[in-house]
Amino acid sequence: MSDLIETDYLVVGAGAAGMAFTDALLKHSDATVTIVDRRHAPGGHWIDAYPFVHLHQPSAFYGVDSVPLGDDALDQSGLNAGFYGLAGADELRAYYARVMQQHFLPSGRVRFFPGCDYRGGAAGRHTFTSRLTGATQEVRVRRKLVDTAYLEGRIPATSAPPFEVAEGVRCVPAGEVVRVTDHSGRYVVIGAGKTALDTCVWLLTHGVPAARIQWVKPREGWWLNRRYNQPHTLLPDLYAAAGLQLQVMAQAASVDEVFTRLESSGYLLRVDTTVTPTMMHGAIVSEEELKLLRQIQDVVRLGRVRRIEPGRLVLDEGTQATAPDALYVHCAAKGLSAAPVRPIFEADRVTVQPIYWGFACFQFATLGVAEASLASDEDRNRLCPPVAYWDTPADYLRTYLAVLAHGRARAAHPVLNVWANASRLNPLRDIGRYRDHALVQETRGVIKQHGVAAVSNVMTLLAGQDA
Ligand SMILES: Cc1cc2nc3c(=O)[nH]c(=O)nc-3n(C[C@H](O)[C@H](O)[C@H](O)COP(=O)(O)OP(=O)(O)OC[C@H]3O[C@@H](n4cnc5c(N)ncnc54)[C@H](O)[C@@H]3O)c2cc1C
Repeated sequence: MSDLIETDYLVVGAGAAGMAFTDALLKHSDATVTIVDRRHAPGGHWIDAYPFVHLHQPSAFYGVDSVPLGDDALDQSGLNAGFYGLAGADELRAYYARVMQQHFLPSGRVRFFPGCDYRGGAAGRHTFTSRLTGATQEVRVRRKLVDTAYLEGRIPATSAPPFEVAEGVRCVPAGEVVRVTDHSGRYVVIGAGKTALDTCVWLLTHGVPAARIQWVKPREGWWLNRRYNQPHTLLPDLYAAAGLQLQVMAQAASVDEVFTRLESSGYLLRVDTTVTPTMMHGAIVSEEELKLLRQIQDVVRLGRVRRIEPGRLVLDEGTQATAPDALYVHCAAKGLSAAPVRPIFEADRVTVQPIYWGFACFQFATLGVAEASLASDEDRNRLCPPVAYWDTPADYLRTYLAVLAHGRARAAHPVLNVWANASRLNPLRDIGRYRDHALVQETRGVIKQHGVAAVSNVMTLLAGQDA
C-alpha cells in the first residue's frame, strides 16, 4: 500500500449503507471517497448471507439511488406471485459489484479497499490494515469518517451460535442446509426471526414434510404483510395502509389494540394467532409464506436455547427432548444491534443509524444527501435525529412517532424535499401518478382526519404503558 492516502470521506463498510451514502455524496458534492470493508467485495452482509435469502421488500426500493435494482416486474410464480420482484443474494452481490465497478470507480473520485479492517483514528488521521498482507495504510481524511459499522448486525454465517453445542451434535448455520446431502432425520430450526422463517419455508418448499421440522421459537413476532409494501401499480395499497395505521393509532385504546386491529385489517400478520407477539423487527412476509409456516406443529416455547445435547435441548425455561439424529439449524444470530443512539452528524464523523421505520436504503441515501447539501451539522441533526433500533411492538409505535415528526420537517426542507420527490428509493415518490385512484382519494381524507389524533393518542398509549 502507498504511504498516505488523502480523501474527503473515509467510509467504513461497503454494505447497503456505505454504498447508498457514497452514491449520494458523488451526486450531490464534489467530494472524494475512500471505502474500506473487511469483506472481499461490496454488498455487506449479503456477501455471506444464506443462499436462499431475498429482500423482504421489493427491489424497487433498495440499493443506491442512481442505479436501479431489478426489472420492476410482477412475479408470475412462486410465493411472491402477484407482487414485485425481490432480489436474491446473487442478484444483490452482482448489483453492488456493478455499482462499484461501473459507477463508483470510473468516476475517479472513489477508491475501494476490500479485505481491509478499519483500525481507528482521530483528528483526520486514520488507518486500516489489509487482511491478506497485514500491511497498514494511513489515510488523511479532510472532511469526515463515515461509520456504517456502528450498528452492524450479526448473521448466522459469520457468528457462532449463542448457545453451547455438545460434542456429537450436528448444528449448522442457516445457509448450510442447502448443502445437506445425507440427512433423513428431523430438522430443529432455532430462532424466531426472519432467517428462521426463511429456513422453514425453504425446507418445506424443498420437500421436507412439516412433521419433520421442530421449531424453537423464543418469541412470537409481528410481521408486515407484503401486500401493503409494493411499488408501481400496487402503490395505492401502500398508501392506504399508511392511512389505516394512522386511523388505528388515533382510535385504539391500548398498545395491544393497535396491533390486533392492524392484524384484523390484514396489515400485520403472525404465524400463531394464539400467541401474543412480543417481537416486532419490521420484516415483511407474504400470506403464502405464512400458510406454509402454519403447517409446522411442533413448536418449542421455552425461551432461548442454552445448550444442545444429544437428544435434548436445554433452554431458559426447561428441557426439551429432540430426535437423537436431529440436524440443528442455527438461525439465532442477533440481527439488529442495540448500541445506544448517538448524534449522526459530528464535526469529524457521520455515524449511520436509522432515522425512521423501514426502507433502509432511502434512509442511508437521505443521510448522504443531508451531509452533502445541508449547511451545518446542527441542521443535519435537527432534520435527521437517530432512532433506536426497534425490537418490541411498543418500539414500533415510538419509531412511528419519529417518522411523523421528523418526516414532516424533512418534507418542509427545500433540498431534502426536492431530492425525496425524485428518488426511486422513496416509497411514496410516485403517489401523485395515482391521484385519481379511488383508494388514494379516500386515503387522503383518512390521513387528514386522523393524522394529528394519531400522534397524540400514541403518545398517551406509550406513556400509559411506560408508567
Ligand atoms: C437477512 C437480512 C435481510 C434483510 N433484508 C432487508 C430488506 O429486504 N430490506 C431492507 O430495507 N433491509 C433489509 N435488511 C436490513 C439490513 O440491515 C439492510 O438492508 C442493509 O443491508 C444493512 O446494510 P449495512 O451497510 O448497514 O450493514 P452491513 O451489510 O452489515 O454492512 C456493514 C459492512 O461494514 C463492514 N465493516 C464493519 N466493521 C468494519 C471494520 N472495522 N473494518 C472494515 N469493514 C468493516 C462489514 O464487513 C460489512 O460489510 C436485512 C438484513 C438482514 C440481516
